[in-house]
Formats: sequence, C-alpha cells, structure tokens
Amino acid sequence: MERLQKILAQAGVASRRKCEEMILSGAVEVNGEPVTTLGTKADPAVDVITVNGRPIRSEKKIYVMLNKPKGVITSAKDPQGRKVVSDFLPGIKERIYPVGRLDYDTEGLLLLTNDGEFANLLTHPKHHVPKTYHATVKGVPHGSALEQLQQGVMLEDGMTSPAEVEYQDVNMEANEATVRITIHEGRNRQVRRMFEAVGHKVIKLKRVRFGELGLDGLPRGKFRHLTEAEVKTLL
Ligand code: URA
Repeated sequence: MERLQKILAQAGVASRRKCEEMILSGAVEVNGEPVTTLGTKADPAVDVITVNGRPIRSEKKIYVMLNKPKGVITSAKDPQGRKVVSDFLPGIKERIYPVGRLDYDTEGLLLLTNDGEFANLLTHPKHHVPKTYHATVKGVPHGSALEQLQQGVMLEDGMTSPAEVEYQDVNMEANEATVRITIHEGRNRQVRRMFEAVGHKVIKLKRVRFGELGLDGLPRGKFRHLTEAEVKTLL
C-alpha cells in the first residue's frame, strides 16, 4: 500500500504537489469511490485508480520463473529473518508475489508476478493447471502404492483428484526412490501428504513443471522473465 499522491506521481500523472491538489479537488477515485483525504493509501497492483474518470497508467506487468532453492520461504519478508524468495530476484523493482507456494523445504519452479488477476486465476481451485514434481521418498513404493496415487487418495481435506505417476529412479541400496508425479490441484503440502497417505515419507521434493513450462536448465537460485507466449500458454 502506498499513499495515493505518490502512486499518482509515480504513474506520471503530475508532480506530487499537483497530485495532492487533484485529490483535494475530488478528481481522483479509487475503485469507483472519490477520495479527497490526503494520505489515503491504495495498492496500484489491485485497486482501480482514476483521475477525472480515466484510469492511470498501470504498472508494467512482469512474470518471472524462479528456480527456488530449498530452505527459502515463499514470501516477500520473514519476521524471523530467514531467506525469502525476493532475495533471489535482484534488480526487480516491482512488487511481485508468488503464484501459489512452495514449502520451505521444496525446491524448483516458482512463478512470480505483479499481475494479481493472473495469480488469482492460476491459483483458483477450479483452475487445474498440471504441476509436476520429482519426489524422493523413503522406501521403494510398490506398484500398488503408485496405483493408489493414480486413482486419488483420501487426505484430511478430502479425496485428491487422480495424479499421473511413474518411477524416475529406484535406489535399492539406499532404500529410496524418486517418483515423478503430476497433480492438478494445489492444496497445502499436497504431494508430501499424498505420499504419506500411501506410507512413504518425502525426503526431497522438486517442482520441475508448471503447466507447459519447465525449468529447462535454469540454475538453482536463478530467475528469468517469461515470454509473452509462455504467459499465454498458462491462461
Ligand atoms: N506439494 C508439497 O507437498 N509441497 C510443495 O511445496 C508443493 C506441493
């Protein structure tokens, strides 16, 4: 949230001083309501701000893909001072937020944007964008466990929709396996809970695909901007 006069000035409407006069004169509306009090705050990423009925130039929309390392929080700030995803986005001045979350211990593909509509759409429960993970689990799951995951398993918050699963790697000596799993929902800790439901603890989790997009060699801890065509594939 920013002071309205600052938002207007940053959008190139006029000087801060002149913008204050515009607010006092009743020319400025936020979400259809006139605002005449100086110091009123608004969020340019979400609120519709108009001057004499015309929307101000909104912030350029940006969309980035980050290969999030484990041990990083999917949020802009952490009161406890732990590493957060914005620490990995040097040079990005826009206030961007994650499209869904990855757990602290999960690594891999995370999208971030300042386009609130896009983020809401993709995280809406009705939007079934496929997300693919490599889950390394303790023990080697039998085919029957994978079949259960394929059919859907019962969790505390209800039955999951069917997942696509296949073995990626089996290490008998270490008694571990890596399974490639694609889910079409985005519940909290869903992949970890699904494996737990079939008797296997996830010891490493990496998201490798989000919709049509893959990490494709993006190094851990690095980000890149999406192309317009890539953004469109997600909608
Ligand atoms: N499922 C999980 O369990 N954790 C994540 O971070 C993402 C999906």
